[in-house]
Amino acid sequence: MKLFTCGPVQMYPSTAIIRSKGFIHFRTEEYGNMVKMTLRRLADLLGNPEEYATIYLASSGTGAMEATVENCMGIHDKALVINGGGFGKRFCELLEYHGVLYDSINLKWNEELTEEHLKPYEDKGYTALFVNMHETTSGQLYNMQMLSDFCKRNHLYFIVDAISAFLADRYDMDKLGVDLTIISSQKGLCCSPGCAIVSFSKRMIDKLYNDNTLTSSKYFDFKDYLKGNIDRGQTPYTPPVLVMYEIQDMLDMIDSEGGLSSRLKIVKEKCEYFRTKVKEIGLTIPNYPISNMITPIWFEEVSAYDVIQVLKDKYGMYVNPCGGELATKLLRVSHLGNTNLADFDELIEKIQLSIEDVKEKQIQGVL
Ligand SMILES: *Cc1c(COP(=O)(O)O)cnc(C)c1O
Repeated sequence: MKLFTCGPVQMYPSTAIIRSKGFIHFRTEEYGNMVKMTLRRLADLLGNPEEYATIYLASSGTGAMEATVENCMGIHDKALVINGGGFGKRFCELLEYHGVLYDSINLKWNEELTEEHLKPYEDKGYTALFVNMHETTSGQLYNMQMLSDFCKRNHLYFIVDAISAFLADRYDMDKLGVDLTIISSQKGLCCSPGCAIVSFSKRMIDKLYNDNTLTSSKYFDFKDYLKGNIDRGQTPYTPPVLVMYEIQDMLDMIDSEGGLSSRLKIVKEKCEYFRTKVKEIGLTIPNYPISNMITPIWFEEVSAYDVIQVLKDKYGMYVNPCGGELATKLLRVSHLGNTNLADFDELIEKIQLSIEDVKEKQIQGVL
C-alpha cells in the first residue's frame, strides 16, 4: 500500500530499516549525546537558537498539546483559540477539560482567517493564543505573520501546533516570536509515530519557572524534561528509543539534500505538480490559503469517500478521508514522505479511474 497520507507517511528506506539495526541502551552517555545532537538540529530547523529549550516527549502530537495546556496555563490565564477544524477544536476541548478560561474564533471549514476575525479580540485581557499553523482537516494554512503581530500588540504567549506545517511550509519561531512550538515524529519528519517535540522560547521557560499558579501532570512535567534534556540528553521515563534513531536518520537525509530550503522545495515541487494535474482533470481545489503539505480535493458528482475506498482496495493507494459532513465531499492528498512526481502521475490516473468506477457502480445501483 502506497501512502499519500498526512501521517504516518510513506517512510524512506533508510529510516524504515532502523528498527532492524539494533540500538544502544538509553541510559548510556552515547545515547544521551545522540539525543542532545538531534534536539539541537531540530531546534535549528524550527528557528529556535536556544539549545536548552527543546524536549522530546513519549507521546503522539496530542499528548504534547495536552501537556502544553497543563504545564503552561494557570488560573490567571485566558486563552484565545483559532478553531478552524478538528485540530483547533482539540485545543478547545483540552482547555475545557483542564478548566482553563478560553474563547475561540470559530471558522467554517472553508472560511479564510483574516484580520477582521481578530478585531473583536484586541485588548480583551487574553494571555495566550493557541493555533494549529496548518489546520490539517481542511488544509488551511493560517497567516502566521498576522497572528504574530496580533500577539505582539496584545502581549500574548504565542503557542503554535506546527505538527503538519513543519518541513512543508517555512516556519521560524524566532522571527515570528513564537513562545512554544509542538511537532511530532510521524508527519514532516517521516518517522514512526510515538515521539513529540516541544520547543520553548526563553519567555515561556521563565513563565514555567516563575508562575507559581501553574500545575502539571506527573508524567508530563515539562520542568523534569527540560532539566534532563539539557544536561544529559535524558528523559525522565523510557523514551521511544527507535523513533529517535529514525529522527537522526531523517535529519542526516535532510542535511545531505542541502538542508531546510531543499527539503521545503522537494515538498513544494510535488505539491505544485499535483495541483496542476488536479485542475487539468477538472477537479476543484478550495481557494483559501493551503499548506504545501496537502492538497484537498472537492467532489461534486461522486462521493469522495467512495473514491477513497476504490483507490485503496483496487489500486493500493491510500489518501486521507475527511470526517463528519465533509466525508463525502473532500479528500486530502499529502505531499510528505517518500513519494515522487511519478507517484503523483500514477495517483492522478488512478483517481480518474476510481471516479469512473464509482459512477459505474452508481449506475448499477451497487453503491
Ligand atoms: C496530526 C496532527 C496532530 C497530532 O495528532 P496525533 O494523532 O496525536 O499525533 C495535531 N495537530 C495537527 C495539526 C495535526 O495534523
